[in-house]
Amino acid sequence: MAEAIEWLADGTPYSPRFGDRYRSELGGLAQSREVFLHGCGLPAAWANEPQWRILETGFGLGLNFLVTWQAWKADPRRPRLLHFVATEAHPASAADVLRGAAAHPELLPLAEQLQARLWGLLPGFHRLVFEGGQVLLTLCIGDTQAVLREQPFEADTVYLDGFSPSKNPGIWDIHTLKAVARCCRRGTRIATWTVARSVVEGLTQCGFVVEKTAGLPPKRHNLQGQFNPRWAPRKAPQATAAPPPRPSTCVVIGAGLAGAATAASLGRRGWQVVVLDACEAPAGGASGLPAGVLVPHVSPDDSLLSRLSRCGMRATLQQAAALLQEGTDWRATGVLERRMDGSPGLPADGSKARRDWSEIASPQQLAQALLADGEVSACWHHQAGWIKPARLVQALLTQPGIRWQGGAQATRLKRDAAAGVWQVLDAKGHSLAQADMVVVAAGYASRLLAGHGSGGLPLQAIRGQVSWGLRSGDGPAGPPDGADEKAFPAFPVNGHGIFIPCVPTGEGPMWLAGASFERDQDDTQRRPQDQQANFERLQTLLPATAQHLASAFQSSGPRAWAGVRCASPDRLPLVGPVDAALQPGLWVNTAMGSRGLTFAVLCGELLAARLHGEPLPLENRMAQALAPQRFSPLTSVRTRLNTGK
Ligand SMILES: Cc1cc2nc3c(=O)[nH]c(=O)nc-3n(C[C@H](O)[C@H](O)[C@H](O)COP(=O)(O)OP(=O)(O)OC[C@H]3O[C@@H](n4cnc5c(N)ncnc54)[C@H](O)[C@@H]3O)c2cc1C
Repeated sequence: MAEAIEWLADGTPYSPRFGDRYRSELGGLAQSREVFLHGCGLPAAWANEPQWRILETGFGLGLNFLVTWQAWKADPRRPRLLHFVATEAHPASAADVLRGAAAHPELLPLAEQLQARLWGLLPGFHRLVFEGGQVLLTLCIGDTQAVLREQPFEADTVYLDGFSPSKNPGIWDIHTLKAVARCCRRGTRIATWTVARSVVEGLTQCGFVVEKTAGLPPKRHNLQGQFNPRWAPRKAPQATAAPPPRPSTCVVIGAGLAGAATAASLGRRGWQVVVLDACEAPAGGASGLPAGVLVPHVSPDDSLLSRLSRCGMRATLQQAAALLQEGTDWRATGVLERRMDGSPGLPADGSKARRDWSEIASPQQLAQALLADGEVSACWHHQAGWIKPARLVQALLTQPGIRWQGGAQATRLKRDAAAGVWQVLDAKGHSLAQADMVVVAAGYASRLLAGHGSGGLPLQAIRGQVSWGLRSGDGPAGPPDGADEKAFPAFPVNGHGIFIPCVPTGEGPMWLAGASFERDQDDTQRRPQDQQANFERLQTLLPATAQHLASAFQSSGPRAWAGVRCASPDRLPLVGPVDAALQPGLWVNTAMGSRGLTFAVLCGELLAARLHGEPLPLENRMAQALAPQRFSPLTSVRTRLNTGK
């Protein structure tokens, strides 16, 4: 359930849980600007900076975010990137957020964009993207102290908001203030509307130098200050690494989804990126799949993979909506997942936020998939659909700062330590490109290009083939006209394989079934036996559809496309520096496995965030679970020593 809010007669929102009015909304825009924005020296403080990072405790109805976003938009000297990280234990509904902004017409267009993204706010992090990726709101849902442990970044500005200390003491207690202080650098400006003694003392104890300032009537005082402890502050782990680089030059090897997403994330931050690929056109590898499904993973215990896939889905859906044409390149149709083990597969909580993502399929949805109610178990993913990955690759590569170069097969990487420059060489030893940084995103070929020493990255090739045909008898193998309508599900279905019923192509709408899964095979020859295997898979997944397509599979057969997935031993991507000490500037973004359509955009953002020490788009423990070092022998020895195993 979203947080229950009462709207008082004077229009202010009130929280029955805390017995208090929403503070930022008291007094409206002028107060919000005065207390927080101006109280922290903004917008002047961020002028001409490449990035600015704001931390807010207590997102509430989002007024401070909207006011800050509006100031950013209006400022010709705005930073290229504005990060706004907000904590919130009890998120309000999208409708209440919009209602909160209704009194401020100048904020309404921004509030409408915000409310459209406020769904599925389960505990954890949610990265909401605005202004083509230049305004990034990271909503950290949960207790402030706990979520900040998972967000190791340095804020430039801190807004302390929330219900009054007497009503919600937890958000002002010394432990929370310490957690805030851990996100500060010397000089981070802080502001709040409360001058409660306990808050002043707590902040002082944590290293802030604060003073009461005159408030905007009817408020008498506000509090402003700076982080300037008398001691050397203990830095967040991420901040102890080398200082983040200024955007310079980067070569990305691989023009699939992972490489294109990396390039777009770096380009957005001001990098000049060259994307090299061995093929003559982008998306020549696994990302050339004619169409695939975008669907979150579910598990009863909401595993790391499930949470990661939701972060990835949100990132991809936003990117697709911004760059692609819905209906032609992708469509958020919803996807029905047939659960072959008979369990619904969902966590038990059944909250509204959970149901925004996925819930048990209704009898009507089962009927629309031609599946009998009571005989099959299935869940319905609301935030899901199909996509043509090559279209997304192409769109990402047209983003600013990116140059694409095809027919460039990288064979070796060489670093000139004195100049701090990487060279990418071809088989003859000729230089294909050089830059300060290299990101290897070459799928299965990444194992040798970015290998640790001689062993290479522990990657596995998994060959796959899909079968596809034109709907309604457009091709020789097609069934009779119009009959598809009755025999196809109304939306994509996954479970044991996938079936996508309708994707527009230049030749007419197509259906697609797949996919085979052959470990340790890396050839892309199309095989008749894989067509048969896809048919058998379809018979299990959607018997009625399979029966309808039986003649198509038996005669000349549907068309086929084959590619090679690249997977790591734990089936999670590899994102990060290969070995920061021995090979500075060499990063990897690969091992997307069977979920690259969901993971790639998120992994591009994660790579850029780690590189720049920015707020993370997902919890730190998830980012760490994707670190390439998890498979290096040294890391395992260290882990064994640390855990005593
Ligand atoms: C049959 C099949 C069905 C799938 N279905 C789905 C699905 O429904 N949903 C989903 O999420 N995922 C699906 N996937 C997985 C998804 O396609 C991949 O995870 C994703 O495309 C991987 O993207 P990538 O950029 O890491 O790799 P790729 O797209 O393979 O890109 C790697 C690029 O590196 C280039 N390269 C390689 N070596 C070199 C070199 N030495 N020099 C220069 N360039 C080089 C290649 O040419 C290639 O363009 C499917 C995969 C297959 C095979």
